[in-house]
Amino acid sequence: MAFFYFFGDSCILRCQHMRILDNRVVRLFPCALCMMSFESSYHLFLSCPFDLHLWKWLARDILLCVIDTPTIFSTLSCIPLRQSSQIRDMVIASIFHMFHTIGLIRNGVRFHNAIVTLHATKDKIYTMMAMSGTNSKGLCLPIVSDIRLLDNFMVSPGFRVSSKSR
Ligand SMILES: [Zn+2]
Repeated sequence: MAFFYFFGDSCILRCQHMRILDNRVVRLFPCALCMMSFESSYHLFLSCPFDLHLWKWLARDILLCVIDTPTIFSTLSCIPLRQSSQIRDMVIASIFHMFHTIGLIRNGVRFHNAIVTLHATKDKIYTMMAMSGTNSKGLCLPIVSDIRLLDNFMVSPGFRVSSKSR
C-alpha cells in the first residue's frame, strides 16, 4: 500500500504510514493483532487473519452455518429465522460477543501489551455464549440440532410448560 503526503504546493512525499482524509493527514497504525496490514474497522473486525480464524471457528465448529464477513451487517445473515428462539438469541449474542471480544483484545494488545492466544479468545467467546444461552428467555423447539447445540454449551433447553402439566 502506498500513500502520498502532500508537502507544500509541489512536493509530494511518499509515506507508508500517512493518509489524507478530508484534507487532514491521518496516521495509520499497523493492526495490533497481525501486524501485517494497516488497522481499519474493516480489517480489525472482519478481514484480519486472526478474526478470519475466529469467524470460521464460530461458523464451522460451533454454529454449523456460514457467516459472511464482507460487511458487519452481512454477519447477521446467519441468524436463523425458523429455529428455536433460544438458539436465535445465542446466535445473535455470539456475533456481538465476537465483535466485543475482538475490540477488547485489540485494546489489550495496543495499550497494555497483552499477550493473546486464539485458544483463550475462543474460551472467552464460548463462555459468553453459554451465559447468553442460559439467560435467554427464548424457547427451544424439540429439534435434535437445537438440543445438541445447547448440550454443547451445557445450557438447559427452555421448553414451553403446558398448562396441563402445571
Ligand atoms: Zn490484522
